[in-house]
Amino acid sequence: MKLYNSKTKELVSFVEAVKLGLGRERGLFCPSYIPIFTNIDEILEMPFVMRSQKIMRSFLEEEIGGSKVDDIVRKAFTFMPQLVRATPRMFALELYHGPSLAFKDFGARFMAQCLNLFAGKEKITILTATSGDTGAAVADAFFGLDNIRVVILYPKGKISPLQEKLFCTLGKNIHTLAVEGDFDSCQDLVKTAFSDQDLCSKIKLNSANSINISRLFAQICYYFEGVARFRDYYGNKVLPVISVPCGNFGNLTAGFYAKAMSLPVKRFVAATNANDTVPRFLNTNKWEPHKTIPTMTNAMDVSEPSNWERVIEHFKKMQVHAKGNNWQMNEENIQGISISDAQTAAAMQALHKNGYVAEPHTALASCGLSKSLKENEAGIFLSTAHPAKFKEKIEEVLGIQIFLPDKLQKASSKKILSETISSNYKSLKEFLLS
Ligand SMILES: *Cc1c(COP(=O)(O)O)cnc(C)c1O
Repeated sequence: MKLYNSKTKELVSFVEAVKLGLGRERGLFCPSYIPIFTNIDEILEMPFVMRSQKIMRSFLEEEIGGSKVDDIVRKAFTFMPQLVRATPRMFALELYHGPSLAFKDFGARFMAQCLNLFAGKEKITILTATSGDTGAAVADAFFGLDNIRVVILYPKGKISPLQEKLFCTLGKNIHTLAVEGDFDSCQDLVKTAFSDQDLCSKIKLNSANSINISRLFAQICYYFEGVARFRDYYGNKVLPVISVPCGNFGNLTAGFYAKAMSLPVKRFVAATNANDTVPRFLNTNKWEPHKTIPTMTNAMDVSEPSNWERVIEHFKKMQVHAKGNNWQMNEENIQGISISDAQTAAAMQALHKNGYVAEPHTALASCGLSKSLKENEAGIFLSTAHPAKFKEKIEEVLGIQIFLPDKLQKASSKKILSETISSNYKSLKEFLLS
């Protein structure tokens, strides 16, 4: 499978794209074609892991071999998405049953297995800054892979104690550094490291961020599972509308790839919070990012989503392939809806009345779905985080108590293994070279 750089159009292999992350001139790697299943009914009847192997083989078998693809998928996907009926016509696709209790586990674990295989004997250092979520998914995904060293920076005292327990208690190849500064100073340190020629000539650095194409490929698989389980209720008579809570738009990009592979989806809802650059773009065709606004769905506080470029590339390509009409960027395919914090809180309450507890990001997606559904339609909203991850918010909005799952319970008694460093680049460099 060749991928092209969205800026320079040069082609690279999947292995190169995964190792590079970002292309030259800050171009994103995009698939040069999307494989299509002609036997979709059969595919949907397969069990999750086997089907995911089939999906990933269709992209990667030619380059890395079928049995390697199967291995990567089997090691990465050690947990399942679950489709749960939340209201009569709306189903939650719960993607949070992985080790860090967020959907990012799918992408991070798949990427970790890819890098582990592609690195060979080479020793790689993953360097990343986190304000919470990504750190936990990355740490868990790479834990115990011995040719990869992971170094995670986070602002000391500025992430929730629970978050800290989740990724700073692992040890082995996971190194966590509490930086005396804020999140921006962590990001600055990471940027400085990546542009330090001297450092980069001595160690092999990779960022493992969400721009990596391997993450998006992995995320295609759960859309298939969602539609397969939706069929348990509706057969193939009703096609689901799928609502995605969007931040950087990686999740939605994967959804469009799945649809192009012939997954039957009626349309997608791109649900955002007040950071509504994409919904406005869909209405006016003008790209006008505003300053980022903090909201209660903070994992989606992004006003210049980097993966949007991939969505644009995809629609352009599909219009050429499908010779036109069914891949227009219009309301039949994609509906942009921006949802306020007040609406998100109301959606949490509405779901709770039906007996379903959702954290804010998930509730926002359900709100987007309910606004979009017409009579005779039914749909799926993606549930991107476990309620326990947003315990305080849920307790405040719903007035109920949320209990921690075993995994968090256990982590909360473990010892924090982080080292504290100053926000001075010299101390990071010393650490990296030690
Ligand atoms: C990252 C994240 C999102 C946004 O996903 P994108 O792929 O960046 O659009 C939504 N919800 C939660 C809980 C997240 O952590």
